[in-house]
Amino acid sequence: MAKPKVATASLAGCFGCHMSMLDIDDRILKLIELVDFDKSPVNDIKEFTGRCRIGLIEGGCCNEENVRVLREFRKHCDILVALGDCATMGGIPAMRNGIPLKECFQGAYLSGPTVYNPSRTVPNDPELPLILDRVYPCQEVVKIDCFLPGCPPPADTIWQALVALLTDKPLALPYELIKYD
Ligand code: SF4
Repeated sequence: MAKPKVATASLAGCFGCHMSMLDIDDRILKLIELVDFDKSPVNDIKEFTGRCRIGLIEGGCCNEENVRVLREFRKHCDILVALGDCATMGGIPAMRNGIPLKECFQGAYLSGPTVYNPSRTVPNDPELPLILDRVYPCQEVVKIDCFLPGCPPPADTIWQALVALLTDKPLALPYELIKYD
């Protein structure tokens, strides 16, 4: 019987949530027995090859490319999981949300203390994805079925959530795995 497929993506995130997923250590072998990975930076598959049972999304949406990828995941995945604080609430990238976009560009490319930019140009190649007015958590763009907060969520949290979702069990994680004080 064909194994269910899992796809993953990193939008406006730092890849820390992906690192945490790989931190399941030798259980990665069990995971590979349970699922096939589809589109994911883990295997560098760039396009969906079929329907996926689970899509794991790290990061929120800071540009139009993030929105396109997130909508594509919604279309191809039965269960879409917002993985980590950036996906569930914008996280660190959303710290720019209170600052006008023009000031963000100025700080990043012109006036920031570490900026070296003799040409005084702000990147404007048409191939660059259009930046959004603010960073949007995933659920403000598409329907999200499951939220795993944390920066990053611990490997055990990700593992137990994946096993529950793959075996159609209720997602009842123990308190120790979802407390962050
Ligand atoms: S939640 Fe934390 S670890 Fe995950 S992408 Fe955001 S900053 Fe990185």
